[in-house]
Amino acid sequence: MSTSIVKIPREREISPCPCNREKTYAECCLPFHYGRKRPETAEQLMRSRYSAYFFRLVDYLVATTHPDKRDKKLAHNIDETIWEPSWRKLEIISQSKGGADDKTGKVEFIATYSLGKETRQLHEKSRFRRFKGKWMYLDGKG
Ligand SMILES: [Zn+2]
Repeated sequence: MSTSIVKIPREREISPCPCNREKTYAECCLPFHYGRKRPETAEQLMRSRYSAYFFRLVDYLVATTHPDKRDKKLAHNIDETIWEPSWRKLEIISQSKGGADDKTGKVEFIATYSLGKETRQLHEKSRFRRFKGKWMYLDGKG
């Protein structure tokens, strides 16, 4: 565990959250990223993971992956792939369960990103499951 104090740039706090243009980062995903709040729904966790890809918060992505899927190479694998894409937009297509009283949930989304000069889309159906009460990402299918 890292004990270093993370300085969050002010301009980042007051900018629209990458996952949701209607809220600022400070009002949306920041409290999840810095451990001040826990996502209450699978959708909140999904959005916060998208924003974590946007800001390249590898530790957060590892910490919110279900332990069943958190193999030793996970941090390394995320770190190898997180730097190139520039994430542009997140659209939630559908979801089932994943609420405050559920133990599992599914969220289908389309995430748009740029890779070099190309614009691409990731269309995924993600599965989430609680672990010790916290929402965790289990896996996803394209
Ligand atoms: Zn957000």
